[in-house]
Amino acid sequence: MQPFTYVIAPSAEAVPAALADSRTRILAGGTTIYDLMKLGLEAPATLLDITAIPGLDGIQVTEGQLVFGALARMSDAAAHPEVLRRCPVLAESLNRAASQQLRNMATLGGNLLQRTRCAYFRNGPDYPCNKRVPGSGCAAQEGLDRGHALFGGSEACIAVYPGDWAVALVAMDAALDLLGPGGSRSLPVSSLHRLPGDAPERETVLQPGEMIQRIRVPLGRLGEASTYHKIRDRESYAFALVSAAVALDLDGGVVRQARIALGGVATRPWRVPEAEAALIGRRMDAALAAEAGRLAFTGAQPGRHNGFKMELGARTVADALLIAASRSGMP
Ligand SMILES: Cc1cc2nc3c(=O)[nH]c(=O)nc-3n(C[C@H](O)[C@H](O)[C@H](O)COP(=O)(O)OP(=O)(O)OC[C@H]3O[C@@H](n4cnc5c(N)ncnc54)[C@H](O)[C@@H]3O)c2cc1C
Ligand code: SF4
Repeated sequence: MQPFTYVIAPSAEAVPAALADSRTRILAGGTTIYDLMKLGLEAPATLLDITAIPGLDGIQVTEGQLVFGALARMSDAAAHPEVLRRCPVLAESLNRAASQQLRNMATLGGNLLQRTRCAYFRNGPDYPCNKRVPGSGCAAQEGLDRGHALFGGSEACIAVYPGDWAVALVAMDAALDLLGPGGSRSLPVSSLHRLPGDAPERETVLQPGEMIQRIRVPLGRLGEASTYHKIRDRESYAFALVSAAVALDLDGGVVRQARIALGGVATRPWRVPEAEAALIGRRMDAALAAEAGRLAFTGAQPGRHNGFKMELGARTVADALLIAASRSGMP
């Protein structure tokens, strides 16, 4: 690892100016950035520790929304009684991520900005990887693609976005409060992550100098009947093979509103509006859930080793819908 300077940010307002030096990186929980530095994927001259900034580690329930400070720890948000009661999909997405020790360190803002687990990206430089070295090629296209994307890939890159929390946030129409050199702005979480296109090295739409301050999630009936269903190679401490964040608003068993987002199968958190629309006005039961699961994978583009995720994913969505429905009082 290259030597670096460690600096403590005194306030949020000081962060954009400090990031004007493009060799400075934010340090929050450190569970991703240090890994990237050890792997040679990041070599900052300065790490700017933002964890002492006051007021960004809280979780508030206000009129109609949950507000998470970017520095709130994953474990605190996952165990928060109001998050568990009002929006279980959020708590479950956090609780099923990483390990307890990691969740105790990792922050909600840092979680959103984790990078792909594509082995060719992380284990270079022996493999071509456009994300690591733009223009070098993509080893996964003709290589081992079991963990790669069925949706949103390009010729340049098919790496999966690995996180769980962002998938749940996208299902719940959450938004970010950002602070940058030009002031504050709001951004839907669904717009944060870019498709790889021909520039897979650019993963988000964050502007130079911007930091995430807060995450806002609207509250309502949808959140209460929600779940995060995550299928992985082992039941703990593993990234998703497939996951589904699902929320329902049912009226006597008939679907009024539905949200479905997929994880583990796309280059960014992946909403499936066609599958959501197919549910509206219909009585939720196992047959309808299975139909929506199949619809969610329409248009998937499997590679050589990941086609099994289509059936697995359809069943994951179907099971998630039935779990969410049971939380709205349906048997
Ligand atoms: C072994 C292992 C297993 C894991 N398993 C899972 C899993 O199953 N599911 C899952 O979702 N995640 C998983 N993770 C990822 C883990 O959740 C993330 O490492 C963690 O959430 C990152 O948060 P952090 O606060 O430690 O971020 P840091 O490492 O401090 O920062 C991460 C990145 O975000 C930037 N950053 C941090 N905060 C901000 C901010 N407020 N504004 C702008 N930029 C910021 C940093 O500069 C850095 O680039 C795993 C990680 C490990 C190491
Ligand atoms: S899928 Fe993306 S990250 Fe993986 S080798 Fe190809 S370009 Fe690199």
